[in-house]
Amino acid sequence: MPKPRVIYWFRTDLRLHDSPALKAALDLKPEFLYPIWTWDPHYVYRARVGVNRWQYLLDCQTDLSSSLSKLNPKSKLFVIREAPQTLFPKLFQAWKITHLVFEKDTDAYGRERDESVMKLAKDAGVQVVVKVGRTLYDPDELVKQNKGKPTMSISQVQAAGKKIGGIPRPIAAPKKLPDPGPVELGFEQEMPKKEPDVNAVQRAGEEGSYVALAGPKGDFSVPTMEELGLKEATTKHRGGETLALKALGEIIANEEYTATFEKPKTAPTAFEPQATTLLSPHLHFGSLSVREFYWRVQDVVDSYKGQASQPPTSLTGQLLFRDMYFGAQASLGYTFGQTFNNPTCRFIPWHLPSSISPTSGLATGSYLIDNAASEQHFQKWKHGMTGFPWIDALMRQLASEGWIHHLGRHAVACFLTRGGCYIDWERGAQVFEEWLLDHEAACNIGNWQWLSCTAFFAQFYRCYSPVAFPQKWDKHGDFVRRYVPELRGFDQKYIYEPWKAPVADQKRWGCRIVHVDGVEAEDGTYPKPMLDFNKRREVCLQGMKNAYHVGLYGNDPKVLDGSWRML
Ligand code: FAD
Repeated sequence: MPKPRVIYWFRTDLRLHDSPALKAALDLKPEFLYPIWTWDPHYVYRARVGVNRWQYLLDCQTDLSSSLSKLNPKSKLFVIREAPQTLFPKLFQAWKITHLVFEKDTDAYGRERDESVMKLAKDAGVQVVVKVGRTLYDPDELVKQNKGKPTMSISQVQAAGKKIGGIPRPIAAPKKLPDPGPVELGFEQEMPKKEPDVNAVQRAGEEGSYVALAGPKGDFSVPTMEELGLKEATTKHRGGETLALKALGEIIANEEYTATFEKPKTAPTAFEPQATTLLSPHLHFGSLSVREFYWRVQDVVDSYKGQASQPPTSLTGQLLFRDMYFGAQASLGYTFGQTFNNPTCRFIPWHLPSSISPTSGLATGSYLIDNAASEQHFQKWKHGMTGFPWIDALMRQLASEGWIHHLGRHAVACFLTRGGCYIDWERGAQVFEEWLLDHEAACNIGNWQWLSCTAFFAQFYRCYSPVAFPQKWDKHGDFVRRYVPELRGFDQKYIYEPWKAPVADQKRWGCRIVHVDGVEAEDGTYPKPMLDFNKRREVCLQGMKNAYHVGLYGNDPKVLDGSWRML
């Protein structure tokens, strides 16, 4: 029997430590092991990816490639610029591949892509090996053990997890790697017409038959931002397994922090350093194994002499939330990401009801839908120009750095949806999708549903004030001063409500609070609040009460055919 020639397909697992899939590939004792990344055009033009996440991805790829080379100087990450659905049949043939190995991906698109690749492999006589490693539990198993239903609460995850059994202990990183073998593609290559040209990557997806690219130098190297035609990243957060393991090591070294972590007690206003671990982008790219994270924490908790915190507020509890959303998505597929046709997502008519009769149903009474104002609110929210310094500081931190604290995410998501603007959670989720370094489809969608009280959480009368809430954490307003520098000079009495400051003081502090039409203010000014928060909160609350009273879900026939408008 000839020895196996294996492609190891890196996707959600840009690491060497604790990779069950990589171990499975090495257990095949291959003659050749090809570690590859296929440049999936889905990432480029179907998903929304901002420059900061691009940079993070390239960081992860560069670090991984160098780690592979350390284990075998002939090895590295072979980045191939073509959609996997068209690339693999050619690669199988060119490299005489016997096995394809990868980590399981239960994202809606991931499943679809993998199914088609598995079919192509079968047609080519290539064996496929898939291993779970992205979550604590296999999301499909979680669903199975949850009576076939999406996991919608932590207790469901805990109960299903118990039936599955223990969370596997991490696996050590390999100490050596087989050679990659000859890498000639043996099929025609077409180079982009001009460099730099990000459209080259896009075209690769649009034209199904676009030929594999080994990069401008033909050496399969990780591209640079410049080469991709992307602007420079603005975030200070950098990616890669080396940094991920270092960050985890530093957290674990602080036993007290690790063992007593309680999420609700961490300050959303803390920066440099932030109050939580900031490991989410590493988990997203798989540069940190979630099981490694879990067990390193659990071992500290087990040996801790004092009173350790418990799930769901503890650190391991946070990872259970992650699994919960993966379970929900694994069960619902694409419908999880939208209200329409989603059986678990409440239907809320996200418009701007300027007058709602308290006794009305969904659309009775007068619904004066002011979509123009609503769009303006959305744009101001997105660009950090609402006139509420707490909301604006968070949105600016998100845009420039790609990460904000969990309770900061709560604040801006609640404000956009049921606690201020009454705008559809799907629009907010799209902005997060573009800007978050840690954007994880399942977690982003699930948390937006939680905050908008459309699924997972129903206490819509609990709402975050953009003034009182941050004051609890940061009386002096250091966070606002950092991200909304216009207000740096303001007295702390007015830092969350600058419009209340006397005009003479505003002048003295170097910033006038003025009406601003669009999303740009003149130098030396900051916008007045775009809405009366207290009034709006009442309007939103009434809208939520009505929607809950009527009780429609995304898959209700009245939602599907639009007849909810007649209610
Ligand atoms: P820590 O508090 O240190 O927690 C450790 C890990 O647990 C995190 O890295 C993360 O992987 C996981 N975790 C913690 N809280 C949650 C949670 N509520 N849901 C799922 N996993 C959690 N998280 C993402 O990873 N990707 C997203 O796209 C995402 N979008 C969000 C959108 C909204 C509107 C909200 C409210 C939350 C979102 N979260 C998302 C969840 C959470 O805010 C982040 O995981 C967390 O803030 C990341 O920071 P950290 O690593 O310091 O978290």
